[in-house]
Amino acid sequence: MTVLGWSIGAGLGVVAVALLLRNHVQLVRLTRWAEAPVGTPVPDAGGLWGDAFAALHKRARGAAESRRQLQEELDRLEALTQALPEGVVILGSGHGIEWLNPQAADDLGLDSGRDLGTPIVNLVREPEFVRYLEIPQHGVPIHLRRLGRALQIAAAPFGPGHTLLLTRDVTQLERLETMRRDFVANVSHELKTPLTVVTGFIETLRDGIGPGTGEIPADEAAHYLALAADQAGRMQRLIDDLLTLSALETGAPPPQEEVVDMRALLAEVREEIASLSAGRHHIRVEDSGPAGLRGSAAELRSACGNLASNAVRYTPPGGSIVLAWHALPDGGAEYAVTDTGIGIESQHIPRLTERFYRVDRGRSRESGGTGLGLAIVKHVLERHQARLAIESQSGQGSTFRVIFPHVRVAG
Ligand code: ADP
Repeated sequence: MTVLGWSIGAGLGVVAVALLLRNHVQLVRLTRWAEAPVGTPVPDAGGLWGDAFAALHKRARGAAESRRQLQEELDRLEALTQALPEGVVILGSGHGIEWLNPQAADDLGLDSGRDLGTPIVNLVREPEFVRYLEIPQHGVPIHLRRLGRALQIAAAPFGPGHTLLLTRDVTQLERLETMRRDFVANVSHELKTPLTVVTGFIETLRDGIGPGTGEIPADEAAHYLALAADQAGRMQRLIDDLLTLSALETGAPPPQEEVVDMRALLAEVREEIASLSAGRHHIRVEDSGPAGLRGSAAELRSACGNLASNAVRYTPPGGSIVLAWHALPDGGAEYAVTDTGIGIESQHIPRLTERFYRVDRGRSRESGGTGLGLAIVKHVLERHQARLAIESQSGQGSTFRVIFPHVRVAG
């Protein structure tokens, strides 16, 4: 080998070693980067290594972005299921609980941490539910009573070996349905009694004036007609009250914000109950309250009149009734009706504003009651942010107070 040849050989050797060293350094940097936390910037390098690093960097950035988007989707899904008004449970093999949202935990009385993995039938043991899970009729819900609530539960297959369980608390819905049914039954009953009486009188009169029958004397016929008219009046009052109540309950516009002249309203109510009492009671008005009240004149007139006429109807002759209108220290005002009548036993007081609730059905009917007066009062007061307070003692008399907030008071 010549000197030239040797030195070329040695030079190439040095270059090869330098290249090897450089590659080694880049490989070490690449390994370190790969071991570093996700998101660490890719090391800088020139040439082919630089291109390789740049390609890796792009891919890593893409992967991080996809991961971020996925996480975002997951977070959104989680937030959605947390906000769902329905309960959602995912059951895996053996009906073990894999996941449930807070509503399902609440509905079924489960713990979303402790109960994970436990077969749901070990925790919700109602036989009806256990049977339903064994042979679920997919999409057809069952009704379950659990922990004092009415639940609707539906199961649906969900991926291989999984079941999706949806729960819904229908307690309130069932209560409303029962109320609706009771209401229809009550109204039918209330209308049926006077209608039967009217029909009876009509038949008697028809038979009495038919050919071949003895004539009914005119005064007897007039008596029957008067009784029939009474019953027709009762039906009329009931229908009027039902219409008022339904207008108040369903979609009636909020009370018109007019300023109601309380002095005039008190005078009107006084006149109305004086005529109802026909001199059988002592009636007095105490008026030291504000001159005006903001609200609906017709509604306030009906509520105040209802309370006052009840005082007359439930106070025996000789008793006294006071209508009072006072300002309250907090800027509000109070309308109070006090009577010395039959009073109310305390256990009835919380229920008096329920539709058709009466302490003594016979007495209420005799005095022309429909059983809806206080229900109407309650609705009117709610619409005026006012509240009703009842104090009464059986045999001693009652006070019905309406407390209006200061925002309703006008001068
Ligand atoms: P009603 O048409 O039967 O009077 P309300 O809704 O006005 O219906 O009242 C419900 C029930 O409350 C009445 O049936 C009666 O038993 C009781 N009640 C109301 N006001 C008085 C009162 N001032 N004194 C005694 N009982 C009253």
